[in-house]
Amino acid sequence: MTQGNDGWVKTTCAYCGVGCGVEARPTLSGELEIRGDQSHPSNYGKLCTKGIALGETVIQDGRLLYPTLKAAGSEKKIDWTAATSMVATKFAETIKEHGPDSVAFYVSGQLLTEDYYVANKLIKGFMGTANIDSNSRLCMASSVVGHKRAFGTDTVPVCYEDLEQAELVVLVGSNLAWCHPVLFQRLRIAKQNNDNLKVVVIDPRKTESNEIADLHLGIESGSDVALFNGLLSYLDDHDCLGEGFIEQHTNGFVEALLLAKQEQSVAKTTGLQEEELDAFYRLFATNSKVVTVYSQGVNQSTSGADKVNSILNCHLATGKIGKPGCGPFSVTGQPNAMGGREVGALANMLCGHMELDNPGDHHRVSEFWGAPDLASKPGLKAVDMFDAMADGKIKAVWIMATNPAVSLPNSNKVKAALEACPFVVVSDCIAQTETTALADLVLPVQGWSEKSGTVTNSERRISRQRRILPSPGLAKPDWWVISQVAQKMGFAEAFDYLHEGEIFREYAQLTTLDNENGERDFSLIGLSRLDDQGYSVLKPQQWPVIEQQDKVVNKRFFADGHFYTQDGRACFIPVNHRAPQSATNGDYPLLLNSGRVRDHWHTMTRTGLAAQLGEHMPEPYVLVHPETAQRYKLQEKSIAKLSSAHGHCLAKVMLSTDQKVGELFVPIHWNGLTAKNSKPCNLIAPYIDSVSGQPEFKHTPVKIEACDYKSQALFTTRTPIALDDVEYWARQKIQDGYAYHIQSTLEPRALEQTLMSYIESEGRLIQYDDGEQSFVTQFMLTNALRLEQLVVVKSQFPLGEVERYITQFNQSLQDEELPPFCIQDQEMVV
Ligand code: SF4
Repeated sequence: MTQGNDGWVKTTCAYCGVGCGVEARPTLSGELEIRGDQSHPSNYGKLCTKGIALGETVIQDGRLLYPTLKAAGSEKKIDWTAATSMVATKFAETIKEHGPDSVAFYVSGQLLTEDYYVANKLIKGFMGTANIDSNSRLCMASSVVGHKRAFGTDTVPVCYEDLEQAELVVLVGSNLAWCHPVLFQRLRIAKQNNDNLKVVVIDPRKTESNEIADLHLGIESGSDVALFNGLLSYLDDHDCLGEGFIEQHTNGFVEALLLAKQEQSVAKTTGLQEEELDAFYRLFATNSKVVTVYSQGVNQSTSGADKVNSILNCHLATGKIGKPGCGPFSVTGQPNAMGGREVGALANMLCGHMELDNPGDHHRVSEFWGAPDLASKPGLKAVDMFDAMADGKIKAVWIMATNPAVSLPNSNKVKAALEACPFVVVSDCIAQTETTALADLVLPVQGWSEKSGTVTNSERRISRQRRILPSPGLAKPDWWVISQVAQKMGFAEAFDYLHEGEIFREYAQLTTLDNENGERDFSLIGLSRLDDQGYSVLKPQQWPVIEQQDKVVNKRFFADGHFYTQDGRACFIPVNHRAPQSATNGDYPLLLNSGRVRDHWHTMTRTGLAAQLGEHMPEPYVLVHPETAQRYKLQEKSIAKLSSAHGHCLAKVMLSTDQKVGELFVPIHWNGLTAKNSKPCNLIAPYIDSVSGQPEFKHTPVKIEACDYKSQALFTTRTPIALDDVEYWARQKIQDGYAYHIQSTLEPRALEQTLMSYIESEGRLIQYDDGEQSFVTQFMLTNALRLEQLVVVKSQFPLGEVERYITQFNQSLQDEELPPFCIQDQEMVV
């Protein structure tokens, strides 16, 4: 049942690649109740904090409601006919004048598969260029390359159940506890139930995932290839190779081993003790069931693809692949990163795991789509695409469901590129993002709980996202908007879809072309005749789907030793350690790592709406080892300025011995709409892996210095405010309002004067000064007993006081009386 009599609708979480099943039910008061779907095989009813708070994020705050034309600082609402005609005309004119490669789409792992499929079909099939890339380039591209080089296809061989069946789970460059929390819970429970299950965490930092680690290897940033080459040598030296597997099912072992053996001093390169290396290598060698989970710490590197292959080499060398409890496991960051890879919405792929440069694949897709102008060469990958925009080569771009002005490296250059591009269209469900601010035309599309389609998670499981709430304003599905544009460009026959189920059926049929006997890994043949009713009630399906799965299926690839290369054998890829592109130096002596926090997602456009999620980490922060802090005179909770060769950013100092001395960590989420001067991508260089195109987000030389701030303030308000003339602020969503955490170089009295200008001009103003050394100023505008705004300025807040004021501000909505601190003698009315 997708919707029971009790009103619960089965859908899928909007966030990470675990792809948890969710049940949602609208209440009479217009809210959305959320619970885990106990029947979903990825999470069996469990949800993390982000999933649980999904209902809090479906509020209409900040929604983009109408197609809006932006010109010379003014905005004009237009209807869909005018909007889609404009996109069609501008793209057609640009192609006519400058050729197909002068246009581009930049899309996202937030899109549903049906949206992705239609976008890819339009640009590659009918606009005639492969200039479409996804923000998955920032998170998964190195894994895609690694898989294709080793297996012949982009195939994740394992399923989640393997974590529970393994004897050893190795987490490499993955803080699973925060980034894939439900998967981490599954692993934690598996370990509780099995004393013999060992967990090794490989990460320069000690992270929350260390909670269940038997061994932590705090390797030097970027040294993973040396570590796994050392493992390959060890396996050979200790007769622990799967010789039968190597002989029967692989090519290139000798060359890979030769290069691995040339690795100079693994201990020195990785910064690990020989005993630590030996302990890890022994565990890998002696346990027959090993899963290696890896994520952005591996992928986001200038040698990301080689890192992936160094891991795959070790699994192939031992035959620890294709069997229960075994295999390399790339966990995806986004809810539909896998779907994007399947439909081929990356610049160097075709679709359905077919290849642009394979004449047979090209012919099949061209015929199937009726697209004689199908692109035949790879397009521009993300970083190159924005460079080409800056250089004037891309003259029209359509950005869908992503915020590149925040998330791409060297954000200042990305902003300049968008400003330089003659026509920028952005489809989004949020009105104000740093990217929509740079658009000529913004298009309102449906958000989670409004849109309908499918997503694929990290274990290749396709699940339905279902429509539960009505769409606000004129918001439409992405596939509908793209199809309307396609029709107006003259491709009506190929884009005459009436609903998303039709698109899915066409897509499933495409995967079957010359694939009746499983010639390609990716097949949805069992869903290619799915009717509308079948699509409506579709249960989670793990691909390949040879027959529709009514029961839970857990499939592994390569159990038969067959790979999707020309001769059916897997390939070892010889790799050697290469240092990251940039190194610390006298000007930038510290190494910056970046990543996610537990309760926020990407650029916070959704999680930033949930008060529950704002409490965990209210402000952008930098983790600093106490010795580093001492050296650079940084105080806990003070604001520090980080600078690199590319820009700077502000963050609150948090001391942690989990960081190495001389290394820093910042979360990626904050940006110009949620904090001032706190966007980490300002710092990050656009250095990319030359094969995968993935940027090096994890290794940036920086310097850090204390900011000489003299005052702090808390400004709580019911509606957002633009604090333009304050040096540092960070916005936290709280219950029915926002809290701005402020720091300033002004003396408290002067800051108080500055903040006075942001006080609303209506209502009753109460001002209070406690006259103490650390003085307090409070302003309240009341509507009956409800506080509208509250401002507190101090030289420094004692521990816990900010939280106490926020609680009192929240409570003023429910209590009969104003909080005690509001009742003062000195009252003035404005
Ligand atoms: Fe959503 Fe990922 Fe959390 Fe599951 S683990 S509830 S998919 S964010």
